[in-house]
Amino acid sequence: MIATTTPPPPAASAHVPISVWRAEFKDADCEQAFRASVQDAMARQLRLALALWAGLMLLFALPDLQALGAGNALFWQLLLYRALMAMLLLGAIWVLRSQPRWATDGRLVAWIAVIGYPFYFLLFHVREDVRFWTVGMVMFMQFCMFLFLPGRVVAYLPVAVWGVVGSLLSFVLLGRPTGVLLGLVFLLTLPALVGYMTAARLQRVQRQEFALRQRLSETNAALQTEIAQRIELQAELERQATTDPLTGLVNRREFSRRFALDLARTQRDASPLSLVLIDLDHFKRINDQYGHAAGDAVLRTLAQLSHGCFRSIDTVGRLGGEEFAVLLPSADLHCAAQAARRLAQRLAETPVEHEGQRIVAGMTAGVAQRLPGEDSLESLLQRADLALYAGKQAGRARTMLALPDGSHQEFYTGLHSIG
Ligand code: GH3
Ligand code: MG
Ligand code: MG
Repeated sequence: MIATTTPPPPAASAHVPISVWRAEFKDADCEQAFRASVQDAMARQLRLALALWAGLMLLFALPDLQALGAGNALFWQLLLYRALMAMLLLGAIWVLRSQPRWATDGRLVAWIAVIGYPFYFLLFHVREDVRFWTVGMVMFMQFCMFLFLPGRVVAYLPVAVWGVVGSLLSFVLLGRPTGVLLGLVFLLTLPALVGYMTAARLQRVQRQEFALRQRLSETNAALQTEIAQRIELQAELERQATTDPLTGLVNRREFSRRFALDLARTQRDASPLSLVLIDLDHFKRINDQYGHAAGDAVLRTLAQLSHGCFRSIDTVGRLGGEEFAVLLPSADLHCAAQAARRLAQRLAETPVEHEGQRIVAGMTAGVAQRLPGEDSLESLLQRADLALYAGKQAGRARTMLALPDGSHQEFYTGLHSIG
């Protein structure tokens, strides 16, 4: 009996909740799995973005130089800030090489941005000439932070607030009127809001896709398991259909199939094909004396011994009851009889141990070699059976040959020519 366990189908409606404002999986394990799957790619993108940022920081020192001149201490203060920022960014790039998970964590970049923003607040004071452009730069930063720097929207939100508040304070210190301040808040909040909403939507879509892929691979895995189980089941059914359960030898059906294959090869090669039919002697007595289970043990022992007496190309089958048959391709009558004799000897020398009893069993064999044009298993079996019967009649425990003329002759080891 074969038991199969079909895995439950994955819930088709399985929905993994994603936080709307954080744009992250609500389930921590799921979020971890997602971040692990994207962290390398994200770290690469982030390193590129940070390198660009560092390059721009240094590049914009040129307009500073042009506007302030090398003799101005403010120029050097700005340059120092720029250099420190560039170093910070390069340091982050270096760290991200060995710690890619810091890219998905989001806090590293958020802190760099927190440190980077005061540069622009300072610029509002130092470079009056480009104050308009600096506001534009902060707007650009607010937007880019969400969309260009890979990270977490939830980590960027406080930075965006810091960008607005810091700029506002700078303008308050500069004594700007309320109207300008309100305009500034509007200008800096808008890109942050648009950036946040766009990035959040993007992040949600990425996670939905990830959840779908996960579900797909789970379904795939379940299918693979099912296929493997079915293949196993099919192999087991095939084995059951071709094997005798008691001895593990091939059954009559499989024996017939193998005969057809061997016959085809024999006809093709014009090689001999022989058959040995075996019947245990006084088996009924063994059953009566020691019990049916002991009889079964004898049958199993005979099957085991047969493996050592016949070649791997031979087919040993149990045709039913205590009757066995062996097909020997490329073996003539003499060879087949020798193998049968070997088995009979082994059986006689191997007492079967059963519940403290030692049972010595004997067998009689009938051997027939396929005659030219003899293409049916039944015919070959019948000739071997007649030889077997003759062996039983002659007193059992012997190997009897079915000669081509229909007569029978006992086989003796050392007999070299067969009439
Ligand atoms: P002979 O030497 O003439 O062959 O005598 P025998 O006692 O072996 O006679 P026969 O071949 O007619 O007996 C076959 C017995 O084999 C009868 C049946 O009870 C027994 N038998 C058939 N199948 C099985 C089986 O699967 N297990 C056991 N234990 N006995 C079986
Ligand atoms: Mg019998
Ligand atoms: Mg018998």
